[in-house]
Amino acid sequence: MSVSSKAIGIDLGTTCSCVGVRKNHGVEIIPNDQGNRTTPSCVSFSDNERLVGDAAKNQAAMNSNPHNTIFDAKRLIGRKFDDAEVQSDCKHFPFKCFSKDGKPYVRVEYRGEEKELSPEEISSMILLKMKQTAESHLVGSCNNVVVTVPARFNDSQRQATKDAGIISGLNVLRIINEPSAAAIAYGLDRKVVGEQNVLIFDLGGGTFDVSLLTIEDGIFEVKATAGDTHLGGEDFDNRLVDHFVQEFKRKNKKDLSCSPRAIRRLRTACERAKRTLSSVAQASIEIDSLFWGIDFYTSLTRARFEELCQDLFRGTLEPIEKVLRDSKIDKANVHEIVLVGGSTRIPRIVKLVSDFFNGKKPNKSINPDEAVAYGAAVQAAILSGDTSEKLQDLLLFDVHPHSLGIETPGGVMSVLIKRNATIPTEKGETFSTLPHDQRGVLIQVYEGERARTKDNNLLGELELFGIPPAPPDHLQVEVIFDIDANGILNVSAADKTTGNITIANDKNRLSKDDIERMLREAEQYKADDEAAAARIQSKNDLELYSYNLRDSLTRLGMSVNETIQWLDASQDASKEEFDDKLKELEVIAQAAVHYQV
Ligand code: AMP
Repeated sequence: MSVSSKAIGIDLGTTCSCVGVRKNHGVEIIPNDQGNRTTPSCVSFSDNERLVGDAAKNQAAMNSNPHNTIFDAKRLIGRKFDDAEVQSDCKHFPFKCFSKDGKPYVRVEYRGEEKELSPEEISSMILLKMKQTAESHLVGSCNNVVVTVPARFNDSQRQATKDAGIISGLNVLRIINEPSAAAIAYGLDRKVVGEQNVLIFDLGGGTFDVSLLTIEDGIFEVKATAGDTHLGGEDFDNRLVDHFVQEFKRKNKKDLSCSPRAIRRLRTACERAKRTLSSVAQASIEIDSLFWGIDFYTSLTRARFEELCQDLFRGTLEPIEKVLRDSKIDKANVHEIVLVGGSTRIPRIVKLVSDFFNGKKPNKSINPDEAVAYGAAVQAAILSGDTSEKLQDLLLFDVHPHSLGIETPGGVMSVLIKRNATIPTEKGETFSTLPHDQRGVLIQVYEGERARTKDNNLLGELELFGIPPAPPDHLQVEVIFDIDANGILNVSAADKTTGNITIANDKNRLSKDDIERMLREAEQYKADDEAAAARIQSKNDLELYSYNLRDSLTRLGMSVNETIQWLDASQDASKEEFDDKLKELEVIAQAAVHYQV
Protein backbone atom coordinates (compact mmCIF):
# COMPACT_ATOMS: atom_id res chain seq x y z
CA MET A 1 0.00 0.00 0.00
CA SER A 2 1.44 3.41 -0.86
CA VAL A 3 1.97 5.98 1.86
CA SER A 4 -0.50 8.28 0.16
CA SER A 5 -3.39 5.89 0.68
CA LYS A 6 -3.01 5.07 4.36
CA ALA A 7 -6.31 4.14 5.96
CA ILE A 8 -6.79 5.12 9.59
CA GLY A 9 -9.19 4.21 12.39
CA ILE A 10 -10.73 6.98 14.47
CA ASP A 11 -12.44 6.51 17.81
CA LEU A 12 -14.62 9.64 17.90
CA GLY A 13 -15.26 9.78 21.63
CA THR A 14 -17.53 11.98 23.74
CA THR A 15 -14.67 13.37 25.80
CA CYS A 16 -11.59 12.20 23.91
CA SER A 17 -10.78 10.87 20.46
CA CYS A 18 -8.01 8.56 19.38
CA VAL A 19 -6.51 7.63 16.01
CA GLY A 20 -4.59 4.54 14.96
CA VAL A 21 -3.02 3.04 11.88
CA ARG A 22 -1.98 -0.50 11.02
CA LYS A 23 1.80 -0.56 10.82
CA ASN A 24 4.52 -3.21 10.94
CA HIS A 25 2.06 -6.05 11.62
CA GLY A 26 0.65 -4.18 14.62
CA VAL A 27 -1.33 -1.03 15.23
CA GLU A 28 0.26 2.28 16.05
CA ILE A 29 -1.76 4.72 18.14
CA ILE A 30 -0.70 8.12 16.89
CA PRO A 31 0.25 10.87 19.35
CA ASN A 32 -0.98 14.39 18.66
CA ASP A 33 1.10 17.58 18.42
CA GLN A 34 1.22 17.71 22.24
CA GLY A 35 2.53 14.14 22.40
CA ASN A 36 -0.80 12.84 23.79
CA ARG A 37 -2.28 9.60 22.51
CA THR A 38 -5.85 10.83 22.95
CA THR A 39 -7.16 14.26 21.99
CA PRO A 40 -9.98 16.08 23.79
CA SER A 41 -13.14 16.19 21.63
CA CYS A 42 -13.35 19.91 22.20
CA VAL A 43 -13.48 22.92 19.86
CA SER A 44 -13.19 26.55 20.89
CA PHE A 45 -13.73 29.76 18.98
CA SER A 46 -12.36 33.22 19.66
CA ASP A 47 -11.92 36.61 18.02
CA ASN A 48 -8.98 35.46 15.99
CA GLU A 49 -8.83 31.68 15.91
CA ARG A 50 -10.46 28.29 16.19
CA LEU A 51 -8.77 25.73 18.41
CA VAL A 52 -9.38 21.99 18.41
CA GLY A 53 -8.27 19.37 20.95
CA ASP A 54 -5.81 20.05 23.77
CA ALA A 55 -5.50 23.75 22.97
CA ALA A 56 -9.30 24.16 23.18
CA LYS A 57 -9.54 22.18 26.41
CA ASN A 58 -6.64 24.06 27.99
CA GLN A 59 -8.36 27.29 27.19
CA ALA A 60 -11.52 26.03 28.88
CA ALA A 61 -9.46 24.93 31.89
CA MET A 62 -7.96 28.41 32.11
CA ASN A 63 -11.56 29.51 32.44
CA SER A 64 -11.63 31.90 29.58
CA ASN A 65 -14.28 31.73 26.91
CA PRO A 66 -16.70 29.10 28.32
CA HIS A 67 -19.53 30.24 26.01
CA ASN A 68 -17.47 29.51 22.93
CA THR A 69 -15.85 26.22 23.92
CA ILE A 70 -17.91 23.30 22.67
CA PHE A 71 -17.65 19.76 24.01
CA ASP A 72 -19.99 16.74 24.12
CA ALA A 73 -21.13 17.10 20.49
CA LYS A 74 -21.51 13.31 20.52
CA ARG A 75 -24.29 13.64 23.07
CA LEU A 76 -26.20 15.84 20.63
CA ILE A 77 -25.42 14.31 17.25
CA GLY A 78 -28.36 12.74 15.40
CA ARG A 79 -30.80 13.61 18.19
CA LYS A 80 -33.86 15.82 18.31
CA PHE A 81 -33.72 19.01 20.36
CA ASP A 82 -36.77 17.88 22.34
CA ASP A 83 -35.15 14.64 23.50
CA ALA A 84 -35.19 14.50 27.28
CA GLU A 85 -31.44 13.76 27.28
CA VAL A 86 -30.65 16.79 25.12
CA GLN A 87 -32.77 18.99 27.35
CA SER A 88 -31.04 17.76 30.46
CA ASP A 89 -27.57 18.20 28.90
CA CYS A 90 -28.36 21.73 27.76
CA LYS A 91 -28.91 22.69 31.39
CA HIS A 92 -25.31 21.76 32.15
CA PHE A 93 -23.67 23.26 29.07
CA PRO A 94 -21.92 26.61 29.50
CA PHE A 95 -22.49 27.27 25.77
CA LYS A 96 -25.73 28.11 24.02
CA CYS A 97 -27.66 25.18 22.57
CA PHE A 98 -30.88 25.85 20.64
CA SER A 99 -33.33 24.20 18.25
CA LYS A 100 -33.03 24.55 14.47
CA ASP A 101 -35.44 22.48 12.36
CA GLY A 102 -36.01 20.43 15.51
CA LYS A 103 -32.31 19.55 15.83
CA PRO A 104 -29.90 20.81 18.49
CA TYR A 105 -27.42 23.45 17.28
CA VAL A 106 -24.83 25.46 19.19
CA ARG A 107 -24.21 29.20 18.88
CA VAL A 108 -20.69 30.61 19.17
CA GLU A 109 -18.88 33.84 18.43
CA TYR A 110 -16.02 33.50 15.99
CA ARG A 111 -13.99 36.41 14.62
CA GLY A 112 -16.60 38.84 15.84
CA GLU A 113 -19.47 37.05 14.13
CA GLU A 114 -22.21 34.82 15.47
CA LYS A 115 -22.08 31.27 14.07
CA GLU A 116 -24.66 28.53 14.32
CA LEU A 117 -23.11 25.10 14.19
CA SER A 118 -24.62 21.64 14.01
CA PRO A 119 -23.18 18.75 16.06
CA GLU A 120 -22.13 17.25 12.71
CA GLU A 121 -19.93 20.29 12.04
CA ILE A 122 -18.34 20.22 15.49
CA SER A 123 -17.66 16.48 15.08
CA SER A 124 -16.23 17.10 11.62
CA MET A 125 -13.71 19.53 13.15
CA ILE A 126 -12.59 16.84 15.60
CA LEU A 127 -12.35 14.24 12.82
CA LEU A 128 -10.26 16.66 10.77
CA LYS A 129 -7.92 17.21 13.71
CA MET A 130 -7.47 13.43 14.05
CA LYS A 131 -6.78 13.13 10.32
CA GLN A 132 -4.19 15.94 10.53
CA THR A 133 -2.61 14.23 13.55
CA ALA A 134 -2.23 11.05 11.50
CA GLU A 135 -0.99 12.89 8.44
CA SER A 136 1.72 14.83 10.21
CA HIS A 137 2.94 11.65 11.89
CA LEU A 138 2.78 9.40 8.87
CA VAL A 139 3.85 12.10 6.39
CA GLY A 140 1.19 11.41 3.80
CA SER A 141 -2.48 11.90 3.23
CA CYS A 142 -4.95 9.83 5.25
CA ASN A 143 -8.33 10.29 3.62
CA ASN A 144 -9.77 6.84 4.14
CA VAL A 145 -11.16 6.23 7.58
CA VAL A 146 -13.15 3.87 9.70
CA VAL A 147 -15.04 5.80 12.38
CA THR A 148 -16.49 4.12 15.44
CA VAL A 149 -19.84 4.79 17.11
CA PRO A 150 -21.52 3.34 20.21
CA ALA A 151 -23.24 0.07 19.37
CA ARG A 152 -26.52 1.55 20.61
CA PHE A 153 -26.37 4.50 18.23
CA ASN A 154 -29.56 4.60 16.20
CA ASP A 155 -30.01 5.23 12.52
CA SER A 156 -29.97 9.05 12.73
CA GLN A 157 -26.91 9.09 14.98
CA ARG A 158 -24.99 6.80 12.61
CA GLN A 159 -26.03 8.78 9.56
CA ALA A 160 -25.10 12.06 11.26
CA THR A 161 -21.66 10.67 12.20
CA LYS A 162 -21.14 9.63 8.60
CA ASP A 163 -22.17 13.14 7.49
CA ALA A 164 -19.59 14.59 9.91
CA GLY A 165 -16.97 12.55 8.05
CA ILE A 166 -18.19 13.88 4.72
CA ILE A 167 -18.10 17.49 5.98
CA SER A 168 -14.49 17.00 7.06
CA GLY A 169 -13.67 15.81 3.53
CA LEU A 170 -12.96 12.23 4.61
CA ASN A 171 -13.84 9.08 2.77
CA VAL A 172 -15.67 7.07 5.43
CA LEU A 173 -14.96 3.43 4.57
CA ARG A 174 -17.21 2.16 7.32
CA ILE A 175 -18.92 3.09 10.56
CA ILE A 176 -18.30 0.32 13.08
CA ASN A 177 -19.44 -0.31 16.63
CA GLU A 178 -17.08 0.61 19.44
CA PRO A 179 -17.37 -2.64 21.44
CA SER A 180 -16.84 -4.68 18.26
CA ALA A 181 -13.68 -2.68 17.52
CA ALA A 182 -12.51 -3.31 21.09
CA ALA A 183 -13.22 -7.03 20.64
CA ILE A 184 -10.91 -7.06 17.62
CA ALA A 185 -8.20 -5.38 19.72
CA TYR A 186 -8.71 -8.05 22.36
CA GLY A 187 -8.88 -11.06 20.06
CA LEU A 188 -6.48 -10.25 17.22
CA ASP A 189 -3.23 -11.34 18.81
CA ARG A 190 -4.68 -13.87 21.18
CA LYS A 191 -4.41 -17.58 20.61
CA VAL A 192 -8.02 -18.50 21.23
CA VAL A 193 -8.67 -22.22 21.44
CA GLY A 194 -12.21 -23.17 20.43
CA GLU A 195 -15.17 -20.86 20.60
CA GLN A 196 -14.97 -18.17 23.29
CA ASN A 197 -17.84 -16.05 24.57
CA VAL A 198 -16.49 -12.60 25.28
CA LEU A 199 -18.44 -9.78 26.92
CA ILE A 200 -17.25 -6.27 26.14
CA PHE A 201 -18.22 -3.73 28.81
CA ASP A 202 -17.56 -0.28 27.35
CA LEU A 203 -18.21 2.69 29.64
CA GLY A 204 -16.73 5.93 28.33
CA GLY A 205 -17.37 9.62 28.85
CA GLY A 206 -20.91 9.76 27.52
CA THR A 207 -22.04 6.36 26.31
CA PHE A 208 -22.32 2.83 27.60
CA ASP A 209 -22.34 -0.36 25.53
CA VAL A 210 -22.33 -4.01 26.31
CA SER A 211 -21.78 -6.51 23.52
CA LEU A 212 -21.53 -10.26 23.70
CA LEU A 213 -19.45 -11.88 20.97
CA THR A 214 -18.25 -15.31 20.10
CA ILE A 215 -14.70 -15.42 18.82
CA GLU A 216 -13.34 -18.41 16.96
CA ASP A 217 -10.58 -18.72 14.35
CA GLY A 218 -10.57 -15.00 13.55
CA ILE A 219 -14.35 -14.84 13.22
CA PHE A 220 -15.91 -12.25 15.52
CA GLU A 221 -19.64 -12.67 15.72
CA VAL A 222 -21.69 -10.26 17.78
CA LYS A 223 -24.58 -12.13 19.39
CA ALA A 224 -26.32 -9.23 21.09
CA THR A 225 -25.76 -5.67 22.14
CA ALA A 226 -27.39 -3.36 24.67
CA GLY A 227 -26.57 -0.22 26.60
CA ASP A 228 -27.36 3.43 26.95
CA THR A 229 -26.22 6.13 24.53
CA HIS A 230 -26.49 8.60 27.33
CA LEU A 231 -24.58 7.20 30.27
CA GLY A 232 -20.94 7.73 31.11
CA GLY A 233 -18.33 9.59 33.08
CA GLU A 234 -19.91 12.95 32.33
CA ASP A 235 -23.07 11.90 34.14
CA PHE A 236 -20.96 11.09 37.19
CA ASP A 237 -19.31 14.53 36.84
CA ASN A 238 -22.78 16.12 36.66
CA ARG A 239 -23.79 14.43 39.91
CA LEU A 240 -20.69 15.83 41.59
CA VAL A 241 -21.30 19.31 40.16
CA ASP A 242 -24.90 19.30 41.46
CA HIS A 243 -23.71 18.07 44.84
CA PHE A 244 -21.11 20.83 45.21
CA VAL A 245 -23.46 23.54 43.92
CA GLN A 246 -25.74 22.61 46.83
CA GLU A 247 -22.85 22.54 49.27
CA PHE A 248 -21.71 25.99 48.10
CA LYS A 249 -25.27 27.27 48.48
CA ARG A 250 -25.52 25.90 52.01
CA LYS A 251 -22.20 27.36 53.06
CA ASN A 252 -22.38 30.73 51.30
CA LYS A 253 -26.06 31.36 50.51
CA LYS A 254 -25.17 31.91 46.85
CA ASP A 255 -26.20 29.98 43.76
CA LEU A 256 -23.21 29.59 41.47
CA SER A 257 -25.19 27.69 38.83
CA CYS A 258 -25.97 30.99 37.08
CA SER A 259 -22.30 31.49 36.24
CA PRO A 260 -21.07 29.36 33.29
CA ARG A 261 -17.49 30.22 34.19
CA ALA A 262 -17.88 29.02 37.78
CA ILE A 263 -19.66 25.86 36.63
CA ARG A 264 -16.92 25.13 34.11
CA ARG A 265 -14.24 25.49 36.81
CA LEU A 266 -16.21 23.35 39.23
CA ARG A 267 -16.75 20.65 36.59
CA THR A 268 -13.02 20.48 35.80
CA ALA A 269 -12.25 20.10 39.50
CA CYS A 270 -14.97 17.43 39.92
CA GLU A 271 -13.66 15.38 37.00
CA ARG A 272 -10.16 15.52 38.44
CA ALA A 273 -11.43 14.49 41.88
CA LYS A 274 -13.38 11.60 40.32
CA ARG A 275 -10.23 10.30 38.62
CA THR A 276 -8.23 10.65 41.83
CA LEU A 277 -10.84 8.59 43.67
CA SER A 278 -10.12 5.64 41.37
CA SER A 279 -6.80 5.20 43.13
CA VAL A 280 -7.16 6.82 46.58
CA ALA A 281 -9.98 7.01 49.12
CA GLN A 282 -10.29 10.80 49.36
CA ALA A 283 -9.82 13.73 47.00
CA SER A 284 -9.74 17.44 47.69
CA ILE A 285 -11.23 20.27 45.69
CA GLU A 286 -9.62 23.67 45.96
CA ILE A 287 -10.86 26.49 43.78
CA ASP A 288 -9.82 30.05 44.51
CA SER A 289 -12.40 32.76 44.03
CA LEU A 290 -14.99 30.44 42.53
CA PHE A 291 -17.99 32.78 42.74
CA TRP A 292 -18.37 36.31 44.11
CA GLY A 293 -14.71 36.11 45.14
CA ILE A 294 -15.44 33.21 47.51
CA ASP A 295 -12.84 30.41 47.67
CA PHE A 296 -14.24 26.89 47.64
CA TYR A 297 -12.19 24.33 49.55
CA THR A 298 -13.77 20.97 50.19
CA SER A 299 -13.19 17.24 49.90
CA LEU A 300 -14.91 14.11 48.69
CA THR A 301 -14.51 10.53 49.83
CA ARG A 302 -14.80 7.56 47.53
CA ALA A 303 -17.73 6.29 49.59
CA ARG A 304 -19.64 9.58 49.10
CA PHE A 305 -18.90 9.56 45.36
CA GLU A 306 -20.19 6.00 45.10
CA GLU A 307 -23.30 6.92 47.01
CA LEU A 308 -24.00 9.94 44.78
CA CYS A 309 -23.75 7.79 41.64
CA GLN A 310 -25.15 4.58 43.06
CA ASP A 311 -28.18 4.30 40.77
CA LEU A 312 -26.12 5.12 37.66
CA PHE A 313 -23.50 2.50 38.54
CA ARG A 314 -26.14 -0.15 39.25
CA GLY A 315 -27.86 0.76 35.98
CA THR A 316 -24.92 -0.75 34.08
CA LEU A 317 -25.94 -4.26 35.13
CA GLU A 318 -29.29 -4.28 33.35
CA PRO A 319 -27.79 -4.18 29.83
CA ILE A 320 -25.53 -7.10 30.80
CA GLU A 321 -28.61 -9.12 31.75
CA LYS A 322 -30.25 -8.07 28.50
CA VAL A 323 -27.41 -9.26 26.24
CA LEU A 324 -27.23 -12.56 28.10
CA ARG A 325 -31.00 -13.00 27.65
CA ASP A 326 -30.95 -11.95 23.98
CA SER A 327 -28.03 -14.18 23.09
CA LYS A 328 -29.30 -17.05 25.25
CA ILE A 329 -25.93 -17.48 26.88
CA ASP A 330 -25.69 -18.20 30.57
CA LYS A 331 -23.38 -15.96 32.58
CA ALA A 332 -21.40 -19.02 33.66
CA ASN A 333 -20.51 -19.55 30.00
CA VAL A 334 -18.95 -16.13 29.50
CA HIS A 335 -15.22 -16.87 29.16
CA GLU A 336 -13.89 -13.32 29.36
CA ILE A 337 -15.21 -9.93 30.45
CA VAL A 338 -13.24 -7.16 28.76
CA LEU A 339 -13.35 -3.63 30.16
CA VAL A 340 -13.08 -0.69 27.77
CA GLY A 341 -13.52 3.08 28.23
CA GLY A 342 -12.02 5.45 30.79
CA SER A 343 -14.86 5.05 33.29
CA THR A 344 -14.09 1.34 33.80
CA ARG A 345 -11.21 2.53 35.98
CA ILE A 346 -13.75 3.26 38.73
CA PRO A 347 -13.21 0.49 41.33
CA ARG A 348 -16.90 0.28 42.27
CA ILE A 349 -17.84 -0.46 38.67
CA VAL A 350 -15.22 -3.19 38.35
CA LYS A 351 -16.53 -4.72 41.58
CA LEU A 352 -20.17 -4.58 40.47
CA VAL A 353 -19.34 -6.37 37.21
CA SER A 354 -17.17 -8.92 38.96
CA ASP A 355 -19.85 -9.61 41.60
CA PHE A 356 -22.46 -10.02 38.87
CA PHE A 357 -20.31 -12.76 37.34
CA ASN A 358 -19.94 -14.45 40.73
CA GLY A 359 -16.49 -13.10 41.45
CA LYS A 360 -14.96 -13.60 37.98
CA LYS A 361 -12.21 -11.02 37.45
CA PRO A 362 -12.60 -8.81 34.37
CA ASN A 363 -9.79 -8.98 31.83
CA LYS A 364 -7.73 -5.79 31.86
CA SER A 365 -5.23 -6.78 29.20
CA ILE A 366 -6.20 -4.15 26.65
CA ASN A 367 -5.74 -0.42 26.97
CA PRO A 368 -9.20 0.97 27.83
CA ASP A 369 -8.50 4.30 26.10
CA GLU A 370 -6.99 2.94 22.90
CA ALA A 371 -8.67 -0.40 22.19
CA VAL A 372 -11.46 1.08 20.07
CA ALA A 373 -9.11 3.05 17.79
CA TYR A 374 -6.93 -0.06 17.60
CA GLY A 375 -9.79 -2.20 16.30
CA ALA A 376 -10.93 0.58 13.93
CA ALA A 377 -7.42 0.76 12.46
CA VAL A 378 -7.46 -3.00 11.85
CA GLN A 379 -10.82 -2.71 10.07
CA ALA A 380 -9.55 0.24 8.04
CA ALA A 381 -6.57 -1.84 6.91
CA ILE A 382 -8.82 -4.76 5.92
CA LEU A 383 -11.24 -2.55 4.01
CA SER A 384 -8.42 -0.92 2.11
CA GLY A 385 -7.00 -4.21 0.95
CA ASP A 386 -4.48 -5.36 3.58
CA THR A 387 -4.19 -9.08 2.93
CA SER A 388 -1.50 -9.89 5.48
CA GLU A 389 -1.76 -13.36 6.93
CA LYS A 390 -3.17 -12.18 10.23
CA LEU A 391 -5.93 -10.08 8.69
CA GLN A 392 -7.00 -12.11 5.72
CA ASP A 393 -9.13 -14.47 7.79
CA LEU A 394 -10.54 -11.86 10.15
CA LEU A 395 -14.28 -11.49 9.77
CA LEU A 396 -16.59 -9.33 11.83
CA PHE A 397 -20.32 -10.03 11.90
CA ASP A 398 -22.10 -7.23 13.69
CA VAL A 399 -25.73 -6.67 14.60
CA HIS A 400 -28.29 -3.87 14.47
CA PRO A 401 -29.21 -2.75 18.00
CA HIS A 402 -32.88 -1.85 17.45
CA SER A 403 -36.02 -3.44 16.00
CA LEU A 404 -37.22 -1.66 12.87
CA GLY A 405 -40.72 -1.56 11.47
CA ILE A 406 -43.59 0.49 10.12
CA GLU A 407 -46.81 1.78 11.57
CA THR A 408 -49.89 -0.29 10.75
CA PRO A 409 -53.55 0.61 11.54
CA GLY A 410 -54.25 1.41 15.17
CA GLY A 411 -50.73 2.78 15.70
CA VAL A 412 -49.31 -0.72 15.93
CA MET A 413 -45.61 -1.32 15.27
CA SER A 414 -45.19 -4.03 12.65
CA VAL A 415 -41.58 -5.20 12.93
CA LEU A 416 -39.67 -6.06 9.76
CA ILE A 417 -36.22 -6.47 11.27
CA LYS A 418 -35.78 -7.59 14.87
CA ARG A 419 -33.09 -6.18 17.15
CA ASN A 420 -29.73 -7.98 17.05
CA ALA A 421 -30.21 -9.02 13.41
CA THR A 422 -26.85 -9.61 11.75
CA ILE A 423 -25.94 -6.82 9.31
CA PRO A 424 -25.94 -6.17 6.41
CA THR A 425 -29.45 -7.47 5.91
CA GLU A 426 -32.52 -6.92 3.75
CA LYS A 427 -36.13 -7.73 4.48
CA GLY A 428 -39.27 -7.10 2.44
CA GLU A 429 -42.91 -7.47 3.42
CA THR A 430 -46.13 -6.87 1.56
CA PHE A 431 -48.91 -4.98 3.26
CA SER A 432 -52.42 -4.59 2.00
CA THR A 433 -53.45 -1.14 2.99
CA LEU A 434 -55.76 1.81 2.40
CA PRO A 435 -54.66 5.02 0.76
CA HIS A 436 -54.40 7.72 3.44
CA ASP A 437 -55.99 10.09 0.94
CA GLN A 438 -57.26 9.71 -2.63
CA ARG A 439 -53.84 9.47 -4.15
CA GLY A 440 -51.20 8.31 -1.74
CA VAL A 441 -50.07 5.88 0.91
CA LEU A 442 -48.01 7.15 3.84
CA ILE A 443 -45.44 4.74 5.27
CA GLN A 444 -43.94 5.71 8.60
CA VAL A 445 -40.71 4.02 9.65
CA TYR A 446 -39.96 3.49 13.34
CA GLU A 447 -37.25 1.96 15.50
CA GLY A 448 -37.75 0.61 18.99
CA GLU A 449 -39.00 -2.33 21.01
CA ARG A 450 -42.45 -1.14 22.06
CA ALA A 451 -45.70 -2.51 20.60
CA ARG A 452 -47.16 0.94 19.86
CA THR A 453 -45.38 3.27 17.45
CA LYS A 454 -46.08 6.28 19.65
CA ASP A 455 -43.63 4.80 22.17
CA ASN A 456 -40.93 4.23 19.52
CA ASN A 457 -38.71 6.60 17.56
CA LEU A 458 -39.95 7.90 14.21
CA LEU A 459 -37.04 7.66 11.76
CA GLY A 460 -38.72 9.03 8.66
CA GLU A 461 -41.60 8.56 6.30
CA LEU A 462 -42.26 8.00 2.65
CA GLU A 463 -45.29 8.58 0.55
CA LEU A 464 -46.38 6.53 -2.45
CA PHE A 465 -48.30 8.62 -4.99
CA GLY A 466 -50.32 7.81 -8.10
CA ILE A 467 -52.22 4.97 -6.51
CA PRO A 468 -54.95 3.64 -8.86
CA PRO A 469 -58.48 3.28 -7.44
CA ALA A 470 -58.86 -0.06 -5.67
CA PRO A 471 -61.39 -1.60 -3.31
CA PRO A 472 -60.58 -1.22 0.38
CA ASP A 473 -57.66 -3.37 1.52
CA HIS A 474 -56.81 -4.44 -2.03
CA LEU A 475 -53.83 -2.20 -2.37
CA GLN A 476 -50.60 -4.20 -2.17
CA VAL A 477 -47.53 -2.33 -1.07
CA GLU A 478 -44.18 -4.01 -0.67
CA VAL A 479 -41.90 -2.32 1.87
CA ILE A 480 -38.20 -3.16 1.75
CA PHE A 481 -35.78 -2.45 4.60
CA ASP A 482 -32.12 -2.63 3.71
CA ILE A 483 -29.53 -2.17 6.47
CA ASP A 484 -26.01 -1.67 5.18
CA ALA A 485 -22.75 -2.68 6.87
CA ASN A 486 -22.68 0.70 8.69
CA GLY A 487 -25.96 -0.16 10.37
CA ILE A 488 -27.73 2.53 8.33
CA LEU A 489 -31.23 1.80 7.09
CA ASN A 490 -32.51 2.49 3.58
CA VAL A 491 -36.22 2.05 2.97
CA SER A 492 -38.10 1.72 -0.28
CA ALA A 493 -41.70 0.89 -1.06
CA ALA A 494 -43.31 -0.38 -4.23
CA ASP A 495 -46.96 -0.25 -5.22
CA LYS A 496 -47.37 -3.76 -6.59
CA THR A 497 -50.12 -2.81 -9.01
CA THR A 498 -48.21 -0.02 -10.74
CA GLY A 499 -44.65 -1.03 -9.85
CA ASN A 500 -43.95 2.56 -8.69
CA ILE A 501 -41.03 2.62 -6.28
CA THR A 502 -40.40 5.36 -3.73
CA ILE A 503 -37.29 5.78 -1.61
CA ALA A 504 -37.65 7.24 1.87
CA ASN A 505 -36.33 10.69 2.50
CA ASP A 506 -34.87 11.04 5.93
CA LYS A 507 -36.26 14.11 7.62
CA ASN A 508 -33.72 14.10 10.42
CA ARG A 509 -30.74 14.09 8.13
CA LEU A 510 -28.87 17.17 6.94
CA SER A 511 -29.92 18.03 3.39
CA LYS A 512 -27.49 17.77 0.50
CA ASP A 513 -27.40 21.57 0.32
CA ASP A 514 -26.62 21.80 4.04
CA ILE A 515 -23.77 19.34 3.69
CA GLU A 516 -22.35 21.22 0.71
CA ARG A 517 -22.56 24.53 2.56
CA MET A 518 -20.88 23.00 5.61
CA LEU A 519 -18.15 21.55 3.39
CA ARG A 520 -17.47 25.03 1.98
CA GLU A 521 -17.42 26.52 5.46
CA ALA A 522 -15.08 23.77 6.64
CA GLU A 523 -12.68 24.84 3.86
CA GLN A 524 -12.95 28.42 5.10
CA TYR A 525 -12.21 27.37 8.71
CA LYS A 526 -9.20 25.44 7.44
CA ALA A 527 -7.97 28.45 5.49
CA ASP A 528 -8.48 30.69 8.58
CA ASP A 529 -6.53 28.19 10.73
CA GLU A 530 -3.70 28.13 8.22
CA ALA A 531 -3.60 31.92 8.08
CA ALA A 532 -3.57 32.10 11.89
CA ALA A 533 -0.74 29.54 12.05
CA ALA A 534 1.24 31.45 9.39
CA ARG A 535 0.82 34.69 11.37
CA ILE A 536 2.13 33.05 14.55
CA GLN A 537 5.04 31.65 12.55
CA SER A 538 5.93 35.13 11.22
CA LYS A 539 5.75 36.53 14.76
CA ASN A 540 8.04 33.76 16.01
CA ASP A 541 10.48 34.31 13.15
CA LEU A 542 10.72 38.01 13.96
CA GLU A 543 11.16 37.35 17.68
CA LEU A 544 13.83 34.74 17.11
CA TYR A 545 15.71 36.91 14.63
CA SER A 546 15.57 39.95 16.94
CA TYR A 547 16.87 38.09 19.99
CA ASN A 548 19.65 36.35 18.02
CA LEU A 549 20.68 39.66 16.53
CA ARG A 550 20.69 41.40 19.90
CA ASP A 551 23.08 38.75 21.23
CA SER A 552 25.42 38.66 18.22
CA LEU A 553 25.50 42.25 16.97
CA THR A 554 25.53 44.48 19.99
CA ARG A 555 26.18 47.53 17.80
CA LEU A 556 22.69 47.14 16.43
CA GLY A 557 21.23 47.45 19.91
CA MET A 558 19.07 50.46 19.12
CA SER A 559 17.23 49.02 16.13
CA VAL A 560 16.80 45.62 17.69
CA ASN A 561 15.51 47.02 20.95
CA GLU A 562 13.04 49.16 19.04
CA THR A 563 11.78 46.06 17.23
CA ILE A 564 11.47 44.12 20.48
CA GLN A 565 9.51 46.99 22.02
CA TRP A 566 7.30 47.10 18.93
CA LEU A 567 6.70 43.34 19.26
CA ASP A 568 5.65 43.73 22.90
CA ALA A 569 3.18 46.43 21.97
CA SER A 570 1.87 44.75 18.80
CA GLN A 571 0.73 41.28 19.84
CA ASP A 572 -2.23 41.52 17.46
CA ALA A 573 -0.29 42.71 14.41
CA SER A 574 -0.93 41.00 11.08
CA LYS A 575 1.34 38.48 9.38
CA GLU A 576 2.30 41.14 6.81
CA GLU A 577 3.34 43.58 9.55
CA PHE A 578 5.55 40.96 11.21
CA ASP A 579 7.07 40.05 7.83
CA ASP A 580 7.74 43.72 6.99
CA LYS A 581 9.45 44.29 10.32
CA LEU A 582 11.58 41.21 9.77
CA LYS A 583 12.63 42.48 6.32
CA GLU A 584 13.51 45.92 7.75
CA LEU A 585 15.66 44.33 10.42
CA GLU A 586 17.37 42.03 7.91
CA VAL A 587 18.34 45.02 5.74
CA ILE A 588 19.74 46.88 8.76
CA ALA A 589 21.63 43.78 9.89
CA GLN A 590 23.10 43.16 6.43
CA ALA A 591 24.22 46.77 6.19
CA ALA A 592 25.83 46.52 9.61
CA VAL A 593 27.67 43.33 8.69
CA HIS A 594 28.87 44.91 5.47
CA TYR A 595 30.06 48.00 7.34
CA GLN A 596 31.96 45.82 9.88
CA VAL A 597 33.70 43.86 7.11
P1 AMP B 1 -13.43 7.57 27.09
O1 AMP B 1 -14.69 8.09 26.44
O2 AMP B 1 -13.27 6.12 27.03
O3 AMP B 1 -12.20 8.35 26.70
O4 AMP B 1 -13.62 7.87 28.66
C1 AMP B 1 -13.58 9.14 29.17
C2 AMP B 1 -14.22 9.14 30.54
O5 AMP B 1 -13.45 8.33 31.41
C3 AMP B 1 -14.25 10.54 31.14
O6 AMP B 1 -15.53 10.77 31.70
C4 AMP B 1 -13.19 10.48 32.21
O7 AMP B 1 -13.50 11.35 33.29
C5 AMP B 1 -13.27 9.03 32.64
N1 AMP B 1 -12.04 8.57 33.27
C6 AMP B 1 -10.80 8.56 32.76
N2 AMP B 1 -9.91 8.12 33.66
C7 AMP B 1 -10.61 7.85 34.79
C8 AMP B 1 -10.27 7.38 36.10
N3 AMP B 1 -9.01 7.10 36.42
N4 AMP B 1 -11.26 7.21 36.98
C9 AMP B 1 -12.55 7.50 36.68
N5 AMP B 1 -12.94 7.96 35.47
C10 AMP B 1 -11.98 8.13 34.53
